[in-house]
Amino acid sequence: MSTKPIVDEPLPLPQRWGEAELARLTAMVGQSSLFYWKGPQTAALLAEFRQHYALAHAFPCSSGSAALHVAIAALRLQPGDEVIVPAITDMGSVIGILYQQGVPVFADLEPHTYNLDPADVRRRITPKTRAIMAVHLAGNPCDLAALGALAKAHHLALIEDCAQAWGARWQGQPVGLHGDIACYSFNEFKHVSCGDGGIVATNDARLGTGLSKWGDKYYDRVAGGRDPEELAPNYRITEPQAAVATAQLTKLAAITAGRVWAGERLTAGLAGTPGLQLPAVRPGDTHSYWFYLLRLEPGRFKATRDEFAAALLAEGVACTPGYIPRPVYQYPVFQNHNFFGGRWPVRDFGVTAMDYRTVRCPVAEAILQDGVKLTVNEAMTEPYLAKVVAAVRQVASRWAK
Ligand SMILES: *Cc1c(COP(=O)(O)O)cnc(C)c1O
Repeated sequence: MSTKPIVDEPLPLPQRWGEAELARLTAMVGQSSLFYWKGPQTAALLAEFRQHYALAHAFPCSSGSAALHVAIAALRLQPGDEVIVPAITDMGSVIGILYQQGVPVFADLEPHTYNLDPADVRRRITPKTRAIMAVHLAGNPCDLAALGALAKAHHLALIEDCAQAWGARWQGQPVGLHGDIACYSFNEFKHVSCGDGGIVATNDARLGTGLSKWGDKYYDRVAGGRDPEELAPNYRITEPQAAVATAQLTKLAAITAGRVWAGERLTAGLAGTPGLQLPAVRPGDTHSYWFYLLRLEPGRFKATRDEFAAALLAEGVACTPGYIPRPVYQYPVFQNHNFFGGRWPVRDFGVTAMDYRTVRCPVAEAILQDGVKLTVNEAMTEPYLAKVVAAVRQVASRWAK
């Protein structure tokens, strides 16, 4: 045991909010209304968003989960319709599916991108499948060519969950433009944040014209009046959220550049370390590193994954063992089918036969058992990352079999 940790300085933290946010908030308090509809901050957010994402129809809303729920609602699922989702994601990816009486169908992942495995997605398509949700995990773009081809061949919608992938590029183009509809999050922990917020957006006019209604009680703000034809929640953004989110997006290029650089620096520094499997990025793609997940090759270390992560922490490396504790289908809410007061209407009424207790996604399960998640942020410097690399290499060689 070394006495002094190899990473002998505190984790560098970016100053996330400052003059740009303050200027927008100051302008905002002079307004006569903080309501999003026709609000200048919300209009500015839409304009700034479109600078980065060329999507004609966009609805800024209260969270990434709200954005995903609006996307699902806009597809007008029938009870029991299935949406294929990855086994590792945020609850926000599946909440809206369940509230719309749809059925999340979990598919397994590719072992090194940690994203949907198109071959497994294909196996899970049934006559009830309506959509595939491509979650760009940690900021690494999914195989959108393969998933898009599957969606096309089976007449499915392709939803892109870009919550973790601000700034990421699939084959040179920003994520969110290839699928039918895209969702983004501004929650506290994402690349850019206003505390909580989200955007759902599309270039498909058939989906796009309804987005604001699906997130605003199905009120028609354009024509005016209240005569809702559908059941829809209130997921409106507010002007304070929009003001901060707009300022944040003006920094997106710099934040992304810092994270891409840091992630690639880790891969370059750790490449070739025996027993470590580093995240794989498809040629032509840009991973925007919301976090950096590496895997320990089974049987290569004298330590368990948790001991390995503890040793990294002792050397000053900001990390956690794994990511979410278990695949989403193993959460108690799924194991007990406890969605509506202990019941699940679509199952109770025989509309679906889904039983989450029988779902298995072995690759996802393995990733969560042997993965180690390293913190990445845009404030990390070359000297800091050099120490992180040295510490990880040192721990790996100390515990090598
Ligand atoms: C954060 C996140 C969401 C949900 O976003 P919120 O703004 O927290 O509701 C959805 N999907 C993924 C993959 C996420 O990481």
